[in-house]
Amino acid sequence: MLNRIILHYAELTLKGCNRNTFVKKLRINVRNKIKSMGHIWDVVTIHDRMFIEVPDDYTGDIDAIAEKLADIPGVAWLSRVYWFSNKKYDFFEYKPDLSEIDTLIEKLAIETYEKDKSFAIRVKRSDKRFYQTSSQLEIQLATVILKNTEWKTVNLNTADQYFYVDISSRGISVHTNRIKAIGGLPVASTGRIMCLLSGGFDSPVAAYLMAKRGCNVDFIHFTASNIQASKIEDYKVSKIAQNLSQYCGKVRLYLVPYTHIDLALMDKNLDYDLILFRRFMARVAEKLADSLFAQCLVTGDNLGQVASQTMENVVSMTKSIDMPVLRPLLTYNKEEIVEVSRKLGLFDLSTEPYKDCCALISNSPKTKSEHNKLVHIEETFLSEYGALIEDTLAEKQVIAYNFGNRIPYV
Ligand code: ATP
Ligand code: MG
Repeated sequence: MLNRIILHYAELTLKGCNRNTFVKKLRINVRNKIKSMGHIWDVVTIHDRMFIEVPDDYTGDIDAIAEKLADIPGVAWLSRVYWFSNKKYDFFEYKPDLSEIDTLIEKLAIETYEKDKSFAIRVKRSDKRFYQTSSQLEIQLATVILKNTEWKTVNLNTADQYFYVDISSRGISVHTNRIKAIGGLPVASTGRIMCLLSGGFDSPVAAYLMAKRGCNVDFIHFTASNIQASKIEDYKVSKIAQNLSQYCGKVRLYLVPYTHIDLALMDKNLDYDLILFRRFMARVAEKLADSLFAQCLVTGDNLGQVASQTMENVVSMTKSIDMPVLRPLLTYNKEEIVEVSRKLGLFDLSTEPYKDCCALISNSPKTKSEHNKLVHIEETFLSEYGALIEDTLAEKQVIAYNFGNRIPYV
């Protein structure tokens, strides 16, 4: 009997002929995540599942590793499994000796026993050559449990505890408790986005949601000044990016100073300073995103949450660039966002004090703006616009992570 982690895909079965590509991406992501935990283990795809081949001599905490793998987009659920693979199972018609499986099921049943609860056995035959039908084997194993343990009730529809046996041409796996994973699609399967990342709650959640739908994610963050190279790693927003990379895999965070636009706006007393600033952020981000082959910008905007997020201001920002701006949180309630933030383990970090630029640029932003009016203001008062973008990007700094570990810039 060997230890394995079994992993079940989320929506990949729906993807028709693209399915293989999706599975390959997921397999690469799973291997990289395992590598980030210090292990180089094989990941094998059998039928519609992936098996992680935990080495026989591994003595660490397999359940803890399984829990971390639940954070990988594209995984629906996973479980630690017991794997029987032996020559005698290769030719099922010769009726392999299943006594080892009986013994294991009995052991698991004893370990998970709860008074007055019901159980059920679920057998799946991916290889139909197996000499018993699924229900025959289910009855046989249920009898073992009823005879040799304290479990008394079988409930075939909604049991409290399930024991799963999967029979494939490569072997037989047995598992019980499943860990629910985040689902979605594997990162790198749907596109590349650039997220405008702040030090707040919303944009990290927006980035996570895009990764969950299969996007590669990079970040841009506007800072009040250049950050000393030696301090970048301890910077709040870098820590947020590092945390997100546990879900997003490889990410790059670009830090750019907003001093140039701040100076240009200073003393002009323009009514629309905050929305002008947000249009500037969009343009700088678009330019950087283009150079990295990202297809869209993503923000954590939430309709009506703050004065800068009125429909008019959201539209004015959108119209300032050609690149589409996606806002996955636009319709969320604050508590829904906070709930995800907590689940990601970002809540405490996001609440740490941080002076973000929007608050510094203006404390009473205009709620209604209009694109044409803003274009006129920009042409009149910010005539060196192209240079402002160039100068800002010339000072960019970058830090990169892969599944939570810092990596050299790639
Ligand atoms: P968040 O919680 O993400 O900070 P918010 O509700 O505080 O959002 P704003 O501060 O107005 O709202 O920011 C709206 C969006 O603009 C953010 O979600 C983020 O995408 C982007 N943004 C804000 N500040 C920055 C920044 N310093 N650098 C990059 N993007 C930013
Ligand atoms: Mg903010």
